[in-house]
Amino acid sequence: MTKEPHELALLAESGRLLASVFERIDQTSLAGASTLQINDMVERFIVDDLKARPASKGQYDFGFVLNSSVNEVVCHGVPSAADVLHEGDIVNFDITLEKNGYIADSSKMYLVGKVHPVARRLVQTTYDAMWMGIRAVRPGARLGDIGWAIERHAKRHGYSVVHDYCGHGIGREMHEEPQIMHFGKPGTGLLLRPGMVFTIEPMINRGRRGVRTEADGWTVVTKDGSLSAQFEHTVAVTESGVSVLTLRPDEPAASAL
Ligand code: MG
Repeated sequence: MTKEPHELALLAESGRLLASVFERIDQTSLAGASTLQINDMVERFIVDDLKARPASKGQYDFGFVLNSSVNEVVCHGVPSAADVLHEGDIVNFDITLEKNGYIADSSKMYLVGKVHPVARRLVQTTYDAMWMGIRAVRPGARLGDIGWAIERHAKRHGYSVVHDYCGHGIGREMHEEPQIMHFGKPGTGLLLRPGMVFTIEPMINRGRRGVRTEADGWTVVTKDGSLSAQFEHTVAVTESGVSVLTLRPDEPAASAL
């Protein structure tokens, strides 16, 4: 379950490349674009510019390089030409990238044009909750500490954490042990050791935490139709704390928080 130093270096390289994919999306005007157009742009960037492999494509027979989850979609939204982004939407792009055999996984929310403060607040709180979880990562901490930090922050703002989906170990495979719950009790669960690599990816709903899967078998939406947000990073437990392998240049290093 723990990675060797040379594996951590390769994972960090995959993470750095994946961070640059989000910088590429940052430069794209989203209003009026379809989620399929964003998918295709990201695929070209990963394959042609980064010389890497979009790891989601083909995994579980999924035909795309990203999941696009708009507004009440919690996760696993499927890119489509019919799914055009409009001013006021919030959208998560969840992307995986493999380079030299090692996979990184990250997702980010985007605000399309001018977004209602209610939605902006949900997005900001979800981002902060992810960082609460990341900051709980250090050798000697336990998985329950991560989940507890995340759910406490969400509840404090009147939101709910989705319990049906979790983070995961990652490396040569996209989904490895352990599972990372975004709720839990402090001091419980697996002990964290240096060299462990996993994702932290809370999904937070403005309403209740219940979700359902739509008829396409992929798209997961909130049962009550409320807005949902998610952020995700791939992190490694270090000797002294945590390293965020998919950190983007616009983000603070965890140690600086
Ligand atoms: Mg993931």
